[in-house]
Amino acid sequence: MKKHNFYAGPSVLSQYTIDHTIEGIKNFDGTGLSVLEISHRSKEFVACMEQTVALFKELLDVPSGYQVLFLGGGASLQFAMVPMNLLVSKAAYLITGSWASKACKEAKIIGDVVEVASSKDKNFNYIPKNFTVPADVDYLHVTTNNTIFGTELKKDLDVPVLMAADMSSDIFSRPVDVSKYAVIYGGAQKNLGPAGLAFVVIKEDLLGRVTRPLPTMLDYRAHIENGSMFNTPPCFAVYSSLQTLKWYKEQGGIKAIQKKNVEKARLLYDEIDRNKMFVSTVSDAEDRSLMNVCFVMAEEYKDLENDFLDFAKQKGLIGLKGHRSVGGFRASLYNALLKESVELLVNTMKEFELKN
Ligand SMILES: *Cc1c(COP(=O)(O)O)cnc(C)c1O
Repeated sequence: MKKHNFYAGPSVLSQYTIDHTIEGIKNFDGTGLSVLEISHRSKEFVACMEQTVALFKELLDVPSGYQVLFLGGGASLQFAMVPMNLLVSKAAYLITGSWASKACKEAKIIGDVVEVASSKDKNFNYIPKNFTVPADVDYLHVTTNNTIFGTELKKDLDVPVLMAADMSSDIFSRPVDVSKYAVIYGGAQKNLGPAGLAFVVIKEDLLGRVTRPLPTMLDYRAHIENGSMFNTPPCFAVYSSLQTLKWYKEQGGIKAIQKKNVEKARLLYDEIDRNKMFVSTVSDAEDRSLMNVCFVMAEEYKDLENDFLDFAKQKGLIGLKGHRSVGGFRASLYNALLKESVELLVNTMKEFELKN
């Protein structure tokens, strides 16, 4: 039976990514070697890294003055690297979920931090509005998509300072005005490729302003100078991510992908709002994530939650269990998830309603 992958991360990859990754494992770029065993210093792998950086810049429309890096350590290491490299006097953080809180916690280890607003009072089921960002901070940190709570900042904020953004779970889902950001980073395992890789888009002229000593591996400049090859990069994850980027380009780029994402999310939110058995955990439509749709069973059907998960599983719908801090269900509709998977989920919800 065909499986439909709604996991939050690692998560669904396009068939194109899977097929071309398999090819590279067997015979990388006609070398007769596997991408798993070839030297990262070989001219073929150096070319692969360069192509990945170039395509990433092209698709995200990264302006000059920014560098794109591929590093180990996931998004979580960036929670520390961002303040280490960019926090000179003070940084501001917008607290919209668990990942934002974790990023803020790391920054507090490094320097002075102001929390400009938080939605913790309502278990992060909305995005705070009308907060003030002090004009003298080095950056405002935002988590553009809150993977666990299903809220999303779908537009680049207008604030008086550059932003630092964790875009782990919505990178390449919408066009971004990169010039508003000091840094954009994230783990690859949601909208790009396999786990083990983080992407970093960094405004180069902001580096070198901090006076604290930085271990070489934690200094963005060391990675810039060495083209993301200061040490051995996660070669396989880079190669596989390149396949996704090629697929994005084939799909018509980010705008075309965004259009599909809007359609997919609308299908599901419309059904949640219509179906008497389900309730969205995010009531303000403006804040609803297009990537992670969180919903629960209506009060009178609460005891049927596991039944629905089982029923969905029988249809090949996998990974719908909500995060433990929200409960209920979470359907992750990343770029690579096909519309037919959302349609099957919607039909399954309808069928479940009729059955009960
Ligand atoms: C998954 C996720 C992370 C954690 O990424 P790691 O690569 O596991 O460190 C951080 N932020 C957001 C928004 C995420 O979705």
